[in-house]
Amino acid sequence: MDLKKLASTLIPDDNLLPLEEYEKAYPERQLEKGAEVTRLAPSPTGFIHLGNLYSALADERIAHTTGGIFYLRIEDTDLKRKVDGAVESVIRSLDYFGVNFDEGAEIDSPLNKYGPYYQRQRASIYRAYAKDLIERGLAYPCFCTEDELNAVREEQTANKEITGYYGKYAKCRNLSEDEIYANLEAGKSFVIRLKSQGDTSNKITFRDAIKGDITVTENDQDVVILKSDGIPTYHFAHAIDDHFMHTTLVIRGEEWLSSLPIHLELFKVLGFQLPKYGHTCSLMKVDNGVKRKLSKRKDPELSLDYYRSAGYYPKAVVKYLMTILNSNFEEWERKNPQADYRDFKFSISKMGKSGALFDIDKLNDISKAELSTLSAEQTYDFLNGWVREFGTDKDRQHFADGQYIIKILNLICGIGGKKRRKDIVRAESGVRMIDYFFDDTFAPDYCYRFDNATVNSVIDGFAAVYSEEDDNSAWFAKVKQIAAENGFAAEMSDYKANPENYKGSVADVAEILRIAVTGMPNSPDLCTVMGILGRSRTLARLSAGKR
Ligand code: GLU
Repeated sequence: MDLKKLASTLIPDDNLLPLEEYEKAYPERQLEKGAEVTRLAPSPTGFIHLGNLYSALADERIAHTTGGIFYLRIEDTDLKRKVDGAVESVIRSLDYFGVNFDEGAEIDSPLNKYGPYYQRQRASIYRAYAKDLIERGLAYPCFCTEDELNAVREEQTANKEITGYYGKYAKCRNLSEDEIYANLEAGKSFVIRLKSQGDTSNKITFRDAIKGDITVTENDQDVVILKSDGIPTYHFAHAIDDHFMHTTLVIRGEEWLSSLPIHLELFKVLGFQLPKYGHTCSLMKVDNGVKRKLSKRKDPELSLDYYRSAGYYPKAVVKYLMTILNSNFEEWERKNPQADYRDFKFSISKMGKSGALFDIDKLNDISKAELSTLSAEQTYDFLNGWVREFGTDKDRQHFADGQYIIKILNLICGIGGKKRRKDIVRAESGVRMIDYFFDDTFAPDYCYRFDNATVNSVIDGFAAVYSEEDDNSAWFAKVKQIAAENGFAAEMSDYKANPENYKGSVADVAEILRIAVTGMPNSPDLCTVMGILGRSRTLARLSAGKR
């Protein structure tokens, strides 16, 4: 068969360069020995998930701790999945977590010498290489229709055989020259398939950078390399791109492990040196006692947008992911509590080999701890950032008075007090925690444990003596005085000695006042809360709290 003629009939493009020109256009990167070039290669679907951040963080850490490059490539070969604005959203989402690219799609960088970084813009290079494979008898046109392929799959499934296009099922592999040209003349659409040289009875030991040695079976599938619209499949495009962009380490999800044999063969027939591959384990969660993969449909916490809209402190999410990425990170953190996580020596060999358990409670603990290291002003800035993007109009009005919020934050975070409090888990819950300081979001639950007459008498008695000038002890002396006047023990010790002599203790009186003023039986120091609210608002709340 005249393969040269076949190649130029199937791929007639006359803008294709000789292959060595492509090699020249993408010279070796001038990097130090040991520098790793890594990439994130998402499809522009608009959905960026925790798994993407998980591997991006590993990519970024490895590139930047070895003096290498971390770049963004967009795998947009499947137009059906494309969503406008998706690339910007990937960049913005990762930037929120402090993960930044050195080069790539939509990255403004002088390093952008290995583009275009959108696969759709690289069609000619894929076509040039597909054409070369056809000329070398390593790829061929396949005219099978969807229906024919489905019928083959059904037959294979019924026979309990491996599904796919291989061996005796690869019908178009052995078409004669006449048959091919007759099909072309009849206007039949075609794809280009790899003519696999592999044999599944051969086993290959492969060293995965994360999972270690794994044994795989040689590929014998004649996979599609160019689809009928001339656009490559992931298999073919990634091999060419990772070669020309000089990726040294491909970190990707373990769902790609089953296609690894295809990739090994593609690199071989293309004559390219294989990069290192590291397959990350899937993020799992325990659901009703059963461990399962995080799912897009069931678990909102899989989406990265969730963490922004729920107001997670970005550094906390990153630190949490670091604890699952590298088993020794936590210990290092304990020893270096003040250090930046970027000072940690990240190591690919410490990455988990199987199912990483995602534990939101642990993330919440880390988030609380991280937030408790901020000053009131820093906390205000963080909450205010969330409020501006995700808060209500009322939240935005409240946060316009920064001085007032900072006073509240000093109190609820225990700043300057004996013990720093760790109550704020994330911005959303933090903002809701201070709702009661504003009349338009004050939603009291008057859950008093005493009869109305007692409640009203305590409130009236206190309102009559309340002074904004009182310090904590003067304030408390007044609460004790009201307690005594209403049949409550002013001293806890008296109450404990003879509880039957009293309606309750001074603590119960404080609770009545607390419920009236804050709408809840628990709150930070009530004297300070009243001070922040101010005299007139405190008195109005006391009055409204009567039953
Ligand atoms: N586009 C592929 C994906 O989103 C990339 C896999 C890879 O990193 O090679 O899963």
